[in-house]
Amino acid sequence: MTREPQAAVIAGVTVDTRHWIDGERVASTETFTDISPIDGGALGEIARGTAMEAAAAVAAAKAAFPGWAATPRAERARILHAIADGVEKRLEDLAIVETYDNGALLRSHRRGVMPRVAHNFRFFADWLLQLEHEDFETRGHTNHVSWDPAGPCVLITPWNAPLMLATWKVAPALAAGNTVVLKPAEWSPLTASLLADIAAEAGLPAGVLNVVQGYGSEVGDALTSHPDVRRISFTGSVPTAKRIAASAAAGLTPLSLELGGKSPLLVFADADLDLAVDLAVEQYDNAGQVCLAATRLLVEEPVVEEFTRRFVEKASALKQGDPRDEATDIGPNIHPRQLEKIDGFVQRALAAGARVVIGGHRNGGQFYAPTLLTDIDQDSEIVQEEVFGPVLTLQTFADEDEAVRLANGTRFGLAATVATGDPERAERVSGQLVAGTVWINCFFVRDLQAPFGGSRESGVGREGGTWSFDFYCDVKNTVTAP
Ligand code: NAD
Repeated sequence: MTREPQAAVIAGVTVDTRHWIDGERVASTETFTDISPIDGGALGEIARGTAMEAAAAVAAAKAAFPGWAATPRAERARILHAIADGVEKRLEDLAIVETYDNGALLRSHRRGVMPRVAHNFRFFADWLLQLEHEDFETRGHTNHVSWDPAGPCVLITPWNAPLMLATWKVAPALAAGNTVVLKPAEWSPLTASLLADIAAEAGLPAGVLNVVQGYGSEVGDALTSHPDVRRISFTGSVPTAKRIAASAAAGLTPLSLELGGKSPLLVFADADLDLAVDLAVEQYDNAGQVCLAATRLLVEEPVVEEFTRRFVEKASALKQGDPRDEATDIGPNIHPRQLEKIDGFVQRALAAGARVVIGGHRNGGQFYAPTLLTDIDQDSEIVQEEVFGPVLTLQTFADEDEAVRLANGTRFGLAATVATGDPERAERVSGQLVAGTVWINCFFVRDLQAPFGGSRESGVGREGGTWSFDFYCDVKNTVTAP
């Protein structure tokens, strides 16, 4: 490791592009170039971590663990609130840097995402302070359940909502008294570095939060197979999750996996059709790069014509363009390779006989036109595989049974959305859906105290509220004789 200053200056905001290990900036001998999806321009040279930096970060997390674990809950909570204050103070910097780095809308980062990042810290700080289990008795003995910090945690995150997804893990892991090594995605490494600055300014001791930059394939195994790591929480794709699970198996390290999806939106003939169309068009948010997105539109036959007419009208009015522009609805996709992947899915679907309702092509730069495809089979690739771009499919169903069969007919089970005017139907159908979250006549309403995760290949385990503490802690029962 060399120690030379490296930084990127993004719209006037300076971001250190080195690792953050044991309270110090650490460079690597090699770097990689971080590209902006807005114009393909280089944003900076990022430290390219290796097994050596991974080991140094885990060692720092291990050394800092006893001190942080012994820090009283109230003090840990105070520091997490101070981090939230720092996020709010630097909200504009974070929003701008994230937009340059991953191409998502600046207005969403300003008004939705970054306030939520601060909330992640506040919520888990407050949850920690009220976390307790009522003691119960067994033949006069008292059972007392406690949540003991587990140790160093490795947190690996994707690029589609970089800081939001990172802090959804960092906040509960730290609140629980653990230390952390965060590995952000190589396509969006910058805001994690700003978070390290903010946490240090908030008084988080050295080594409690470490950030290692680099390619998953190069630092990944060293982090996930390390014998001193006590928890691994990963958000990303299914193939990577399988590699991580294999690597973690060596030490039987507990895993939380939040993975991909191919979620359905079921539109029944009794639904408020305007609401159903709004929900469907919303699936283009973040240029379709949302794990929870209901990319499969399943519409009851009698209303499909009218639904499609209103959908096309509304979707055609979406403005695709520069994510810094307040009027833009859909920004670019993250990377030329992602665009290539999206177009590959669409072209193969067309070759297999799918019909374009709208879109179906690139839109210049790193943009893909919002697309709706129909005339497709349930077992076709475009229905079964996650595209992770602004590409939806439309299928019809004749009755409730068929709707449920189509909805459940993939290897995923992350989320499902149901549009219906009949509360009894809503209850009946949601009870049969295989999904970690079901939304009835709404989408993306997320309370941090709710369990979050996926069924089938969409994930392993749940995080959120007490579920997060269950995962990030060694839960202990102490039985005391009378
Ligand atoms: P990805 O799996 O390619 O990468 C995710 C992270 O894993 C990156 O930081 C990457 O560097 C790292 N990684 C890659 N190989 C690794 C290895 N061998 N060991 C350790 N780490 C490694 O996923 P992506 O393309 O960045 O993200 C998109 C995927 O994430 C989609 O499938 C999407 O659905 C999913 N996602 C899921 C959720 C959820 O909450 N369920 C949320 C957002 C995104």
